[in-house]
Formats: sequence, structure tokens, C-alpha cells
Amino acid sequence: MSTSHPRRGILFLLSAPSGAGKSTLRTGLQRNQDFSYSVSCTTRAPRPGERDGEDYHFLTREAFEEQIAAGAFLEHAQVHGNYYGTLKSAVLGVLRAGGDVLLDIDTQGAARIRANAGPEIQAALVDIFLMPESLDVLRRRLAKRGTETPEQIALRLRNAETELREWRAYRYALVTSTPEEDLAGFRAIMQAERSRSERLLFDPILS
Ligand code: 5GP
Repeated sequence: MSTSHPRRGILFLLSAPSGAGKSTLRTGLQRNQDFSYSVSCTTRAPRPGERDGEDYHFLTREAFEEQIAAGAFLEHAQVHGNYYGTLKSAVLGVLRAGGDVLLDIDTQGAARIRANAGPEIQAALVDIFLMPESLDVLRRRLAKRGTETPEQIALRLRNAETELREWRAYRYALVTSTPEEDLAGFRAIMQAERSRSERLLFDPILS
């Protein structure tokens, strides 16, 4: 996919309830290095295999609160009992340089960005909700993953139900299918959004 024509950067915002297949989708998307992934900060403990600075910046509560006070976050929220936040530094520079950014954030973060971000972010924002066809599908996926305790799974399912109520607030809703189809669906959205005329900063007549 060509990104060589000058255009405005896009802020792809992906939300999904825990267990919907978002991490697999993200890994697939990151194989094409045609966007910058915004590494969030969190106070939750790393899962096995997660790397500091790649999956998240893992911070103590104190360090996270210092970043809040310093105004470092575009948005932050408490999710599943921990802080999560998007660093302005991970987003603004890339967009201004005409690059695309992918945010993987929850529905609260998405609502805050829609409500509070300035015109530059609003114009760049493309929000996409990845959703299972039912809560039951989600329950089975979470149980199979085996990375959370039964209490954590129960908490995530309760949160999932709340998050699923938000799907209509997103411009796009992708109903999960196979990992390949999820990836193809997301890529199709990326390609269409990159071709919107209002984003293009060149004119074939004048060039
Ligand atoms: P997990 O702990 O499974 O990595 O993430 C839990 C939830 O936190 C997911 O819904 C994820 O999208 C969300 N999340 C991750 N980073 C951020 C962030 O920077 N801000 C907000 N609001 N949510 C985030």
C-alpha cells in the first residue's frame, strides 16, 4: 500500500472488549510497518512475554500520576482497576509529519478523545470497534486464553458488557471472524480512509 503521496496523518483508534481478538489483529497489522503504534502507559503488571516499551510502558502508580500532573497524556482512564494512558508524544509528532498512528484503547479513552481533543485530532480520528457476535463467544475465548484468573475473567466480562454497549459511537464496527478476515477488514478500512480526498495534500493537476 502506497503512503508516498503527501497527506494528513490518520489516527486509527481501535477498541474491543477483552478477548475479542484485538491483540491478534494488532500483531497482524504491525507486520506492515505503515503506521506507528502508540505504546500506552499502564500500571498493570506485565503478562508473560510482554516487553516494556513495546507492549506498554509499565509504570508504578506514582510514576503514572506524575505523568498525569505533567500533562503528558492525550487521555487516560482506569480500566480493570489499573491506569492506562495515551502519551501525547506518541501521537502528535507522527500525525503532524503526515504519518498514521494506531491507538489500542478502551471505550472510555475513545469517548474522551472524541469529546476533548482539538480539531487536529478530530480531523485525524478514525474509530473502529472490533466486536464479537455475542457475549458467549467472548466468554469462551477468554477462558481458552488462560492468562487471567477466574475472578479476572469475571471482571473482564462485566466490563466487556459495558463496553459492548458503546459500539454505535464508532464510525466502523468490525464483527470478529477469523484472524485473517479481521485483518483484511481492518486493512480495507485503512485503505479507504487513506484515499479520502480531504486528506490529500497534493493536486494531480498542479503537480
Ligand atoms: P490489557 O490489560 O488487556 O492490555 O488492556 C485492557 C484494556 O485497556 C484494553 O481495552 C485496552 O484497549 C485498554 N487500553 C490500553 N491502553 C490504553 C490507553 O492508553 N488508554 C485507555 N483509555 N485504554 C487503554
